[in-house]
Amino acid sequence: MTDTLQADKLSADELRELAERAGRELEDASALEILKWATRTFGKRFCVTSSMEDAVVAHLASRALPGVDVVFLDTGYHFPETIGTRDAVDAVMDVNVITLTPRQTVAEQDAEYGPKLHDRDPDLCCKLRKVKPLEEGLTAYAAWATGLRRDESATRANTPVVGWDEKRQKVKVSPIARWTQDDVDAYVAEHGVLTNPLLMDGYASVGCAPCTRRVLEGEDARAGRWAGRGKTECGLHD
Ligand code: SF4
Repeated sequence: MTDTLQADKLSADELRELAERAGRELEDASALEILKWATRTFGKRFCVTSSMEDAVVAHLASRALPGVDVVFLDTGYHFPETIGTRDAVDAVMDVNVITLTPRQTVAEQDAEYGPKLHDRDPDLCCKLRKVKPLEEGLTAYAAWATGLRRDESATRANTPVVGWDEKRQKVKVSPIARWTQDDVDAYVAEHGVLTNPLLMDGYASVGCAPCTRRVLEGEDARAGRWAGRGKTECGLHD
């Protein structure tokens, strides 16, 4: 397979081919094997993004590449528990936490667009506070990893373990795509991985405070995100 030096020289078309082939070849591989392939292929041009719901993918990636970059988007709207989880991950894990922030503070955004843009136009709010900062933050990388899982929602059911991110022209790695919530729980228990305390308080998926509620029995994990607003994704994974 392609090594780091060769991957650096590949065009976008060649990277897309590489991603699609790896997606097929690694479909049955373990999460750690997928991350070892990614770190071997992209070296320091690979990062993990984390919402700090838990540190499972960051933990797995640090086993593949100690000191791996873990990118966190601080939207300015996070629960204090999420910021606390980010700080704990930074303090105790062998990773390099990088915090990205939007160009405007919440106060500056309120002044330009009016208060509570998240209630009136959540797509624009997500674009300003998540999509654009991530786009800018990922420019240094050729590949990024996410914690997407196929069982989280219908929109994530076809997530490849390695695929091509057309929007950002990057390789997108989802090492735990095939995992279930039970697999996540077992990994957390076995390795003592940090998790967001809100997961013990009725939240199944943790995003920005104004757009996240607890889930009800029988709802899928992401039902508490933008509930009642006809929105299921923030635009990071479209
Ligand atoms: Fe804004 Fe809500 Fe999107 Fe956060 S999740 S960026 S508060 S719309």
